[in-house]
Amino acid sequence: MPLLSNIAELLKDTMLPPLCAVCGSLCETYICKSCYLQIRPPGSNICIRCGSFLKHNLPGNNSPYAEYCNLCKNEEYSFYMARSFANYDSAVACIIRKFKYRKFYYLKDIILSFLKEAYEYYYSGQKIDFIETVPAYSGIIKGNIKSHMQMLMPKLSICLKIPYGDNIIKIKNTLRQQELGRQSRRINLENSFKIRHSLKAARKNILLVDDVFTTGSTLNQISRQLKNAGAHKIYILTVARGN
Ligand SMILES: [Zn+2]
Ligand SMILES: [Zn+2]
Repeated sequence: MPLLSNIAELLKDTMLPPLCAVCGSLCETYICKSCYLQIRPPGSNICIRCGSFLKHNLPGNNSPYAEYCNLCKNEEYSFYMARSFANYDSAVACIIRKFKYRKFYYLKDIILSFLKEAYEYYYSGQKIDFIETVPAYSGIIKGNIKSHMQMLMPKLSICLKIPYGDNIIKIKNTLRQQELGRQSRRINLENSFKIRHSLKAARKNILLVDDVFTTGSTLNQISRQLKNAGAHKIYILTVARGN
């Protein structure tokens, strides 16, 4: 990136008033009204378990399985339910990418507000004991490397008034999931996460939070580990839902 645009990005981070993270126009909350209005929630035509978009759920389809996607009909997932704030379309994708890859950490407040809104809409009636997220592999320097989502957890815990369990560790360095197919994703993730203290997870309901739900492989792998440790129900909450 040329130096001038580096300086422009730096000024964007430090000077007031803020600019919309999506279109760059002046606004007060890091996303302008017009970009905010482009964000679309997943809607009601979704699998009641995993939240994926249902293509087969057409009017007049009275099958008892009409509300489940094919994966959930076959009980593919270890989590109890998954929901997202919005579809992974341009505005939300832009905010997530800037936060995750370009390290625009000032966007954390907007991501937290999306998660809080979705939590209150979908899960506020549930009894949840801990929040958790997908940890980074910290190698031999244990505990020092945190994923972008791990950095959000203390603040999210305050927003949702649910303690952060911090009970999951990543014990294997894996390839980036985006570059793999469904089957390879599963193999890549095998034995990569571990629960620190089984007793802390036992009989607990856990809200597992991440930025994007794409195939759900990582979230499902962690859910399986939590279930193996004796957890009761795992609820997934993500900022966005990919297709
Ligand atoms: Zn905008
Ligand atoms: Zn499903």
